[in-house]
Amino acid sequence: MKASPEAQLRLLELADHDAELGRIEHRRRGLPELAEIEDLQTRDAGLRDSIATLGAQEGDLRREQAKAEADVEQVRGRIDRDRQLLDTGQVHSPRELENLQSEVESLLRRQSDLEEIVLDVMERRDTAQASLRAATAARAEIAAGLDAATERRDTDLADLDQQAGLAGAKRKDVTAQIPADLLELYDKLRAQHGVGAAALKQKRCEGCHLTLNTVDLNAIRTAAPDEVLRCEECRRILARTPESGLRPSQRPRSRGRRRASRRPRRLGRRRSLRRKADPAGVPRSGSRR
Ligand SMILES: [Zn+2]
Repeated sequence: MKASPEAQLRLLELADHDAELGRIEHRRRGLPELAEIEDLQTRDAGLRDSIATLGAQEGDLRREQAKAEADVEQVRGRIDRDRQLLDTGQVHSPRELENLQSEVESLLRRQSDLEEIVLDVMERRDTAQASLRAATAARAEIAAGLDAATERRDTDLADLDQQAGLAGAKRKDVTAQIPADLLELYDKLRAQHGVGAAALKQKRCEGCHLTLNTVDLNAIRTAAPDEVLRCEECRRILARTPESGLRPSQRPRSRGRRRASRRPRRLGRRRSLRRKADPAGVPRSGSRR
């Protein structure tokens, strides 16, 4: 494929914008608020279930209490009637009087037992109500936390959207200056490798960070400037730059402190074995994978 050297260099700008868009997307997916919101929602769902269970328990206890109180009232009523019979002297037979007094005593014991039941139910109901209030308060706290986290998330997302919009606009400007066939190749390689084009700097492919061997460098030296080159190792489009290191005269002494120039020469070797970790984390392809 042929493309002007300028268009080839534009690919590097494009790769920068794509890397920026990738970073923005990475930040979008990794926003701490997303995990926080998920955690709060899980806790809220748990509390919602607890509240439903506690509400049902409280309802059962309320009915149980009403039933026990009605039982107490019924016994009290009978005691009152019996006492009235005794007090008003309507019963004359000693045997009946004895029976009546015995019944009152028995009813009083029954009343005491039933009142114990009422107290016990009321206690259990109090506990259920306290748990309900605590769960409801915790849910309100979670709701406030959710509101705050959602607001922070939305602010962050709006900020990232704005950044992505800017990077996207810049990308669009750059793509307008790249021929369609070259752009198509770049996009295809980007889909495969994450990064579509890399610079040749100091005899090294900036995509896979491997130093090219002499044979490949000689081939690049003799290639026409408009020939679109590919890295033999990572297959990315390899764009020549003024710092490619193709001619010794292109490396002035002022750049002597660069790391690349300190590296021993590796003439005669197929590839530098000192490969460095790819900072973009891009999966590598090729024979050495
Ligand atoms: Zn490469």
